[in-house]
Amino acid sequence: MRIVPTVAAMQKLGLRWKRAGVKIGFVPTMGYLHDGHLSLVREARKRIGQNGVVVVSIYVNPTQFAPTEDLSEYPRDLKRDLQMCRAAGVDIVFTPSDAEIYPERQNPKSEIRNPQLFSTYVVEEKLSRVMEGLARPAHFRGVTTVVAKLFNLVLPDVAVFGQKDFQQAAIIRRMVTNLNFPVQIIVAPTRREPDGLAMSSRNKYLDTEQRAQAVILFHALLAAKRAVAKNAVPAARLKRDLAEFITAAPQARLDYVEFFDPETLQPVARVTRGAHLALAVYFGKTRLIDNDRL
Ligand code: AMP
Repeated sequence: MRIVPTVAAMQKLGLRWKRAGVKIGFVPTMGYLHDGHLSLVREARKRIGQNGVVVVSIYVNPTQFAPTEDLSEYPRDLKRDLQMCRAAGVDIVFTPSDAEIYPERQNPKSEIRNPQLFSTYVVEEKLSRVMEGLARPAHFRGVTTVVAKLFNLVLPDVAVFGQKDFQQAAIIRRMVTNLNFPVQIIVAPTRREPDGLAMSSRNKYLDTEQRAQAVILFHALLAAKRAVAKNAVPAARLKRDLAEFITAAPQARLDYVEFFDPETLQPVARVTRGAHLALAVYFGKTRLIDNDRL
């Protein structure tokens, strides 16, 4: 396994493989890896085969965090991440610094720093206007911009994303279609802890009590599935019921419950089987999200 810390070296490798016809599978992450991330690595390997190369990027992207969010506290453990990647058969771990991704110097030898040197963003204007996009303005602009940059550096044939971030995956798919990136986007299922809580790097923030209560998100998904198993239900009613169900956990503070069409991400008035449910719930300062098809 090779660790690649610079943009120049990563793009050189990408180009070399591309010219040699080597298939490239890519898993972008913000590190602090768990089995959810590794399941994406396994999926990438399955798609490209033993002769292909699997690239994992570990980069906590500052442009997708609002000033009020947890950028500086975001958990990091590169040593452990690298061990996990090695054990999972990853070929390349791309670990760029902020200065590599968002350069502030026109000439690397110059002392002059100028944050204004980075001024080009990729913005998806439809799917990113709901749910996480409302709760976290500018978040998806950061995501699409960094993923577009990573695609230009890694030059993947296949990139694997998690259903855990359903809206993110939908927006990346849309970006790839709209901007003609020659990349196949795969969305892999959400990996869960034994009690049902979706694996997430942010679960580390939860104290014992919050961790025990956090399983309410998973139970809310199950309750919604049961509610629409036989009959369509008005979305407003089901939202009210689920809000009550979730806030029965004493530390839970609901951000949103949304029922939507999985293609358009637009809200539905009546919830039927096949509709999609997304949840965002705070436990203290920690914001957890989950979603599933009903
Ligand atoms: P992150 O490091 O949180 O930015 O996530 C990197 C990738 O891993 C994204 O495509 C996520 O959707 C995916 N991911 C995060 N948690 C899980 C999970 N529990 N199961 C499957 N994929 C996940």
